[in-house]
Amino acid sequence: MSASLEKVTQTLKEVIDAPIASYFESCVHCGLCAEACLFYTETGDPKYTPIHKVEPLRRVYEQEYTLLGRLKKMVGLSRPITDEELDQWQELVYDSCTLCGRCSLICPVGNDITYMIRKFREGMAVSGHVPDGIRGATQRTVEIGGPMGLKWPAVANVLKKAEESTGLTIPVDQAGADYLVLLSSMEIVNYPEYIEALAKIFHKAGISFTLASDAFEATNAGIQIGASDIARVIVSRIVDAAERLKVKYVLSPECGHAYTAIRWEGPNLIGRPYQFEVVHVLEFLDGLRQKGALKMKDKFAEPLILHDPCQIVRRGGVLQAPEALIREVAENYIPVADQQKWNWCCGGGGGASAIHTDEAEALRAKAFGVKKRQIEAAGVKTMVTFCANCRIVMEEAIDHYEMDTKLLGLTELLAEHLED
Ligand code: SF4
Ligand code: SF4
Repeated sequence: MSASLEKVTQTLKEVIDAPIASYFESCVHCGLCAEACLFYTETGDPKYTPIHKVEPLRRVYEQEYTLLGRLKKMVGLSRPITDEELDQWQELVYDSCTLCGRCSLICPVGNDITYMIRKFREGMAVSGHVPDGIRGATQRTVEIGGPMGLKWPAVANVLKKAEESTGLTIPVDQAGADYLVLLSSMEIVNYPEYIEALAKIFHKAGISFTLASDAFEATNAGIQIGASDIARVIVSRIVDAAERLKVKYVLSPECGHAYTAIRWEGPNLIGRPYQFEVVHVLEFLDGLRQKGALKMKDKFAEPLILHDPCQIVRRGGVLQAPEALIREVAENYIPVADQQKWNWCCGGGGGASAIHTDEAEALRAKAFGVKKRQIEAAGVKTMVTFCANCRIVMEEAIDHYEMDTKLLGLTELLAEHLED
């Protein structure tokens, strides 16, 4: 075997841990995971079957860890994985997987296929097989601070405008505040109204908050690319700022994977518990609602549906709050089939939206088919969500299909109808 082939095999071998080995052994090849994946349901192409997406990893597992595989390898009956194959496999591991977790939920033997894909991405990242868009976003996050290359002066400018428009103060680096507010670059650039909404809600509730000038970015490109060392650097920035400012809570924004990163993966990445609690913005808002501190002056009258972001709802466990909040503010909320833990992804999570090749964009538009049918079946012109990435991906798809659909953010909608 050439040095390069050996290196590829070794890299993939290193990501195979005990859960992955047991998942490969348990798979009964029922194919049910295909029906759970929107890339399969919307294209009908069997290559998008979730368990097939980790086939190179399965081959390495067989060749390296099973008796039959070792015998086949000895007599030259098995093919080693090549660099070229992994290059081709990028489409299946990144473009066509949003790490949405729907396949893991449906697997009858309990295989966490999403975890397998995440681990496979680790091997892909180490062996240099990552799409340029995701690689660029990761590099900008490490070197500059965020995936879009935003620096603090640009953020400060957005905060100043939000202060002017609301007439409220947005504190920065305020030690002793209750909440450290995190933002995603997509919100800062595309939906600054989220920041205004949050400022209004905090002021109305009389709860102190702050932003940190050296840790405003919530998103974690290290998680998306599959590089734990980078993910740790990004989480550590937030942890250092929160502990320096001695806040009680860190508020995760309307961003799916940011919540997974800081809430569920962060303590494992840094190897210790936090000295603060992580709360998703919808958990915070629902807490206010339950205490009677989120009263509406009126309600949004037009019929609307809700899009549940996978990383917050199915993967993140924020199951009840979104519907409770939407019912608080919407006169005519129409629940759709497959909501909460069975929701369908926007098609661009898990870093997929950072890949801008023609093929990846065409595939995302196709994957939006399931969401399009939900909107059409409900007969609504408004959809509400609570993830800036979902919102951008779906706005692009809505443009692509020339649909007459408006997308709103849930926090903004609540702030707009908040009692004066
Ligand atoms: S995690 Fe979601 S997108 Fe990825 S393979 Fe599973 S169902 Fe498909
Ligand atoms: S659903 Fe589970 S058992 Fe069935 S093919 Fe997929 S991974 Fe294998």
